[in-house]
Amino acid sequence: MSLKDLDVAGKKVLVRVDFNVPLDADNNVTDDTRISKAAPTITYLLENGAAIILMSHLGRPLKDKLEDGSVNREKYSLAPVVSTLEDHVGCQVSFVPDTIGEEAKAAVAALEPGHILLLENTRFYAGEEKGDEDLARAMAELADVYVNDAFGAAHREHASTATVARFFEPDQKSFGLLIDSELAGAEKLLNGPEKPVTAIVGGAKVSDKILLLEKLLDFADNIIIGGAMAYTFSLAKGGKVGNSLVERDKTDNALALLKKAEANGTKIYLPVDTKVGKEFANETPSAVVNAGEIGDEWEGLDIGPESIKNFSEVIATSKSILWNGPMGVFEMSNFAIGTNAVAEAVATATQENGAYSLIGGGDSVSAVNKAGLSEKVSFISTGGGAMLELLEGKELPGIKAIRG
Ligand code: AMP
Repeated sequence: MSLKDLDVAGKKVLVRVDFNVPLDADNNVTDDTRISKAAPTITYLLENGAAIILMSHLGRPLKDKLEDGSVNREKYSLAPVVSTLEDHVGCQVSFVPDTIGEEAKAAVAALEPGHILLLENTRFYAGEEKGDEDLARAMAELADVYVNDAFGAAHREHASTATVARFFEPDQKSFGLLIDSELAGAEKLLNGPEKPVTAIVGGAKVSDKILLLEKLLDFADNIIIGGAMAYTFSLAKGGKVGNSLVERDKTDNALALLKKAEANGTKIYLPVDTKVGKEFANETPSAVVNAGEIGDEWEGLDIGPESIKNFSEVIATSKSILWNGPMGVFEMSNFAIGTNAVAEAVATATQENGAYSLIGGGDSVSAVNKAGLSEKVSFISTGGGAMLELLEGKELPGIKAIRG
């Protein structure tokens, strides 16, 4: 059932959102992207006469308890989110400092249609991350209808993201508009994408992305590999990687992948040159060397200019593009050149060649935002891990719980 088919007028609607936003030391929201992305569903429900109960997690409070073993309620409270949320939805939001207890029940009982109540951090309860049924039942008892719009947590089988949906009939639950758009974004790549399809995969580790890379062999024509993971491939091919971040125990996986790609006709593009630094620091002495020729005293921190040229050419001829993971240590400006160039190439292919581009991962999203190109790509995913699992072909617990 889709959100627009749900009967929500006059109903209490429990919406699982992803308000896991960064806060500064004074508890100010420093990036409100997740709140802004949840706003369309909340606004739709408001306009359609629902009484809205929002729930979310924030951080990992049970991994960072106070010295006496209790939960740090101040540091991990969702209360600081209220004013930012009010700005986005244009109305007052009430907050209750509990998720399921008597106080929460009383606040829900008093909630009128057209009003919004935000519950406290779901992860204050140990049962949340265990997918506990009693906790989920108590959450479900608060409402008539359940809407899951927390794409960033859809790959977690938690009480508020998955188990809770069991307590609602099929016509009482749906995805929100954000999850709908994320699923549609992934579908565009997975089901009959316009060719040629190019996947750009970077970041720290091959091991995190090996399942994605294998799945990509099914539908990508070109796979561009950058970031530290390229050094594992380089090592596997007999190259020298100096002090670069590398996974020595994953060279067999890298070779197997290259072999499969060859048998499959998928082209793999690895960096041909590397920008190296003496140390892991922005101001460190740097040089450009051929890939596989990194001296013992050096470490690879970005792709070099020839690689940028090669990768940009492949991207320019693509009609469908997936990007997950930076080409180098883009947090340091001197080593962000490759990542920025890829962001530019993806934006140009989208704007000038009509390519469909999906940016599917936390760090590539920051890179596109930092480069000011977020309006120039087709789709930016809000869920790094969730999008990765979706593209790997996995069924996400939060999705399955609604679809049944
Ligand atoms: P991931 O979360 O796997 O996409 O990895 C992103 C992280 O990989 C970023 O923090 C980058 O700084 C890091 N990274 C990318 N390239 C390198 C590199 N050459 N050396 C060390 N870290 C890198």
